[in-house]
Amino acid sequence: MIRRRIDLGPLTAAATCAIPGCGRPTMKAARKGLAPHHCRKHVEHRARHGSYWHSTYTAAELKPYLSAATSYVRLWAETDRFIAAARAAVQATLDEAGPVEIATRLKGMSAGKRAKIGLARLRVAEVKPERIISIVLAVSALTDDDPKSHRTKEFRTVQICKAVHRLSSGTHKVWEIEDWQGRKRRTELHAFPRSSGPVLRLMGRMLEEPCELVVEKHLAGVLAYKQRYGRRPRSR
Ligand SMILES: [Zn+2]
Repeated sequence: MIRRRIDLGPLTAAATCAIPGCGRPTMKAARKGLAPHHCRKHVEHRARHGSYWHSTYTAAELKPYLSAATSYVRLWAETDRFIAAARAAVQATLDEAGPVEIATRLKGMSAGKRAKIGLARLRVAEVKPERIISIVLAVSALTDDDPKSHRTKEFRTVQICKAVHRLSSGTHKVWEIEDWQGRKRRTELHAFPRSSGPVLRLMGRMLEEPCELVVEKHLAGVLAYKQRYGRRPRSR
């Protein structure tokens, strides 16, 4: 089947990458894969960042949005039913993620299982659901606010997963797990295995889904809050 698709040849594929200024041959034209419109470099970029061309947001770019979202969530946590529901749903997602595994046992595991292990690690590290909700809101607000971002769901999902990864692995919590022979092993949160493209997307979606209503109801509120109380960006 794949063979036949490759043999269809350049009729269905472009010769050069669709990203402006790239000029490299598409993977299909180079006979190094099936991507008909993009080169290897840009295909790999998309796998890592969720976009062919937009790179991952830096901590500094996310920071003003995260502090606005954090204050906003704290302000409304007690009274807003959407935030209360999301808190319970995120906690349930973490609780149901199953056991954590040591990194060496992840080899050959499906992306879905790896994504769940990533969630289990957040639970063991005691990352609070409010923190995850704030990050989801912050990334959503940033992608919405960024005129250069292309606001696709995929980009947002990957950026959410990366931000949660990054912001929660700073805790470097050590915990003990039992291996298959019942021996206790110490492991640390910052030993997150490098996540592949599919894992980033699956885990991102698992974090995003319980927060969907909160984003729908409160995204505008977070942006307004940032406008009002956030520090003005220095003029360039
Ligand atoms: Zn390219």
